[in-house]
Amino acid sequence: MSNKNYSFFQSVEDYFDKAAACTNLPSGLLEQIKACNAVYQMRFPVKIGNDYQVIEAYRVQHSHHRLPTKGGIRYAMSVNQDEVMALAALMSYKCAIVDVPFGGAKGGVKINPKTYSARQLQKITRRYTTELIRKNFIGPGIDVPAPDYGTGSREMAWILDTYTTFKNGEIDAVGCVTGKPVEQNGIQGRTEATGRGVFYGLKEAMSYADDMKELGLTAGTEGKTLAIQGLGNVGYYTAEISTREGGFKLIAVSEYEGAIMDENGLDINALMKFRKETGSILGFPGSKTLPNREDVLEVDCDVLVPAALEQVIHGGNAHKIKAKIIGEAANGPITSDAAEILLKKGTMIIPDMYINAGGVTVSYFEWLKNLSHMRFGRMEKRYDQRTYENLIDLVQRTTGKTIDQKEKAMLARGADEIDLVRSGLEETMVMAYRQIREIKKRKKKVKDLRTAAFVNAIGKIGSDYVSLGIFP
Ligand code: GLU
Repeated sequence: MSNKNYSFFQSVEDYFDKAAACTNLPSGLLEQIKACNAVYQMRFPVKIGNDYQVIEAYRVQHSHHRLPTKGGIRYAMSVNQDEVMALAALMSYKCAIVDVPFGGAKGGVKINPKTYSARQLQKITRRYTTELIRKNFIGPGIDVPAPDYGTGSREMAWILDTYTTFKNGEIDAVGCVTGKPVEQNGIQGRTEATGRGVFYGLKEAMSYADDMKELGLTAGTEGKTLAIQGLGNVGYYTAEISTREGGFKLIAVSEYEGAIMDENGLDINALMKFRKETGSILGFPGSKTLPNREDVLEVDCDVLVPAALEQVIHGGNAHKIKAKIIGEAANGPITSDAAEILLKKGTMIIPDMYINAGGVTVSYFEWLKNLSHMRFGRMEKRYDQRTYENLIDLVQRTTGKTIDQKEKAMLARGADEIDLVRSGLEETMVMAYRQIREIKKRKKKVKDLRTAAFVNAIGKIGSDYVSLGIFP
């Protein structure tokens, strides 16, 4: 089946149903977990130049088993109700998997942000936020947006400013949106979070020698070949961190203008610089251009990371995929029919709702920081530092050895916010993977990681509904 006529929401429901069959929850409860609770479709006029444009936009709250609901806002021409519903549903499962205590939501504005000036985008963002406020679809305890495809910290700052204009005096107002600029109540490490989470997820999954042996690979990430589709925020940070910290060899990448390959390894930062200067990745020294942009998906590599939009791997190209592992950095990059083909071939698919959960995890940290009105590390950093210094002094006195100043400063460092965020993110990604892997090993009916991830999410959301007293 082609990717064009296959509903994204249907694909998510197919995955859900497959996993639901491996649980023994009552059907009414499963129906409630699956359903989108609230769909807000809006149209609003914005004056662009001398004309008015009527903008189509959405906010979907998939599940209210925990509040607030949470999820990004996407600016793209491909936005439609089906897509936003699918993405909102994925957010519910994603949050449950990484134990982020939120329900799932998603927003979408049907525009091509590249065709508007910053001023016009600001106008659209502020008007969209006003519509959300009007219907009580935004607030630190209600629904908390974040960046997604086509948006970033700049848009989040506009949302915050619009919200606080209307809600003057609301003490936790800055928690109404996450992914804000660090200097405007954001958090260190949010921008890189999804890509860093993808790396931690790959590192954990690839650390099990038995699992890797089944794929014909050795354990570990060092020297493993990597292909990445899309060099936006998620693709770029995945490439940068995976090569620098994990020793991956990046052999192929794609962007709007096409795809390139270099078996000797691409230097991602040199490539980004080259693109900035020339406007394209094509012609990057040492690389060869692939005939089509989509060819990046079919490169012979150990790990493929689709990091752009949904449904890029579908019934029409699934059989051509050669990667042994696919890390779904994008949301929904593989249709359910394509997933069947890949699983039959033995491809390991690390599902989106787990591997791209780094973004919402650090959003959760940002929200906590906003509610506590204090940056992480402020209370304990100096105290920890002094404790370590005292310990080092004790070691010096008892052993008679001196530790030089540089080494001492390194050992006796209290944690900054960025250290704590990265530590919290790594812990989250490692623990969540272990839970999913354990379910896959324990439950005979569960044959793949996505089904295991769904079983995990369904179990957690189900028990929330039961403890809310909604289902006996
Ligand atoms: N848009 C991101 C996602 O799809 C982040 C959501 C958030 O931080 O709330 O997971």
